[in-house]
Amino acid sequence: MYDQRTSWCLHIRIDSSPQFSRDYLVSEVDHVDLSKVFSAQWHSTFRDIVISTRLMPIQVLGRRATNTAFKYRALLRMLHLETGDIDLAKSRTRSFLNDMGVESKLSLVTEQDCVNPVNGLDRRAFSDTLPLHDLDHGMHHVMQELVDCWPELGQVFDRQLNAFSKYFSKRDNVERFCKFRIWESNMPQAAKATLAKVMMHTCPVFLEHRWQYRFEVLQWICEREQLLKLLDPATVRDARSRDEGHGEHEFTDMDVDALQLLYADPVSSGTFWALAYTMLVLCRWGHDVIGWLHGCWCHQDKESRDKHKKDTGKPCPWNGRRLIELSCGAAAGFINKLRSLTIARDKYANEKVESLKRNLYVSSAEQICLGFVTAKNMLEGRFIQLTSFLQEVPWNLVKLLRFVICGSDQVQQAMYDSRRDAFTLMSNYQAGRLTNIGDVGKKFFGHTEFSQGLIRWGRSLDVHMNTNLFRELVSYSTSMLVMQRLEAKHHLVHVTYFTI
Ligand SMILES: [Zn+2]
Repeated sequence: MYDQRTSWCLHIRIDSSPQFSRDYLVSEVDHVDLSKVFSAQWHSTFRDIVISTRLMPIQVLGRRATNTAFKYRALLRMLHLETGDIDLAKSRTRSFLNDMGVESKLSLVTEQDCVNPVNGLDRRAFSDTLPLHDLDHGMHHVMQELVDCWPELGQVFDRQLNAFSKYFSKRDNVERFCKFRIWESNMPQAAKATLAKVMMHTCPVFLEHRWQYRFEVLQWICEREQLLKLLDPATVRDARSRDEGHGEHEFTDMDVDALQLLYADPVSSGTFWALAYTMLVLCRWGHDVIGWLHGCWCHQDKESRDKHKKDTGKPCPWNGRRLIELSCGAAAGFINKLRSLTIARDKYANEKVESLKRNLYVSSAEQICLGFVTAKNMLEGRFIQLTSFLQEVPWNLVKLLRFVICGSDQVQQAMYDSRRDAFTLMSNYQAGRLTNIGDVGKKFFGHTEFSQGLIRWGRSLDVHMNTNLFRELVSYSTSMLVMQRLEAKHHLVHVTYFTI
């Protein structure tokens, strides 16, 4: 697998996880087999690329051994255990993905910092890697902006949301609600069964620091708006006293007070539902972005992805690897989508805000609308910050592969664009207009087979791109940009720890 004579590359993802008052370095490596990748057969080889992901041996760091030097040494140890040859692994690593913590500095460690310095002391030790940060985590920061966009309404709103979610995330409470509010009510028998079915799924638990829960909780609540109006807030207070000290299901008296207000005061209730639907519009956008980031170029929707998994027993190897699209400017599509969002275009949000106005709660309505505009601007600014570097050299070099991932009706145009981009990049480099191209940029633009390949491709002298150049671009394009799955594997820390 890690043979010097064959063509392959690595992508490394690193994350640390503090548990049992120790720090663990969790790391995953992708081995990408490039030996069957040929530019002349770009159509098939790209689709059938073999990527094997392996969890590297977990490293235990001492309590205070969390600085870059310690982590770097731990990383080398892991790579040695995994590949048996650190120098080979170093030269084949094409990307470093991390969570913006101390790990982000690992890709910048220079040879001088290493134990055995060699030539070119200021060279990065992993000189061929693209430094990348986890876009999942990045989206968390983007969506976190929502919290402060409604300064006067946000706090009470979050308390109410919290109370709903804590109460309805518990099976007991949901069953009690169904018993007293649905089955023992006067509504027609047929309606009872339908409504009880809607309540079958409990509400996700609202965690302020995980914005996706905000989306999931809002969605759950908004889908059940009419049902939730049947709730007697006194039962929530009872549940609160019953549950005292039960960790995740705990909610505060202030949460319950806020919820009670929602049932007693029409302004509070109108405001809550208007803000819930309004926020949902924005959360849905974030959710779409995340879904796209975890998807792939070859399977357009969830059904086809699921089918691939069912047929082959594995998820699509391109899942989460959307560097080509992002380097071609895919983020702009999401920015336009965000800009086009309005309250008026969302049936429910619009209805609620209009109803606030009709009932002369104009101030609430205005605050919600103003907050919506602020939120859109904040989200846009943060999202641009998060994604724009991917359109810069050296990250954007993989856009030359755009013809490989486009639909068959667009190949001709994409091929033309790729040649034009190669020509433009090369001319800009030669004219000294590209600064800060980094080690990776130098590899492509310096006097090498790659730069010759770029020139010949740009001038349409080659029918097919130089295969080594093509492979090198493919190796970068297979970089993963999200590492949520790695985070989920932190639980393995327990398993490994106790079985060593
Ligand atoms: Zn796919």
